[in-house]
Amino acid sequence: MTTTAPGLAERAVHAARTHRAADPDGFHHRHDTRETWNRWARRARVARTVAAALQVPLDAVLVTDDPHRTYPTRNGEVPGDLITVTDPPTGQAWRFIPDDTTPGQAWLLLQRCPRCSAEIPVAPVATLADLGDHLDPDHDTPPTWMNQDPAGHRPDCTAAGTEPQ
Ligand SMILES: [Zn+2]
Repeated sequence: MTTTAPGLAERAVHAARTHRAADPDGFHHRHDTRETWNRWARRARVARTVAAALQVPLDAVLVTDDPHRTYPTRNGEVPGDLITVTDPPTGQAWRFIPDDTTPGQAWLLLQRCPRCSAEIPVAPVATLADLGDHLDPDHDTPPTWMNQDPAGHRPDCTAAGTEPQ
């Protein structure tokens, strides 16, 4: 038996079905207005950039509305980007939000706070090495600790504004 790689049509249909299932609202309404189409196209570029930076296949990256964060624009508040990378070999989901200091070039890794379980930004990631440095830090240099912003934690969380243990 021979296995052939699926053709473009088959992969395109698979991609559409995957998007419909993962982000029904975003996919269904992408043509509604110029703004929604623009956001859709911009997020496609974000997905390509993140996939290249983290060396994962493009279809492992999904960019959807961030349910917790909005950003001000000329036309009012718009939902931020929530970037979900589902690692094909392990199935583990990694979530990122944009790093406002480097638009389109680096992202903030989200992890659950061990105390309040809110998803909070823990490390800026522009390359695979940044993620690796966060996972396996060099103990000669102080860690980049992004956890001091209490905004992401639940109000009574004792970890907000503290150093990691
Ligand atoms: Zn917390």
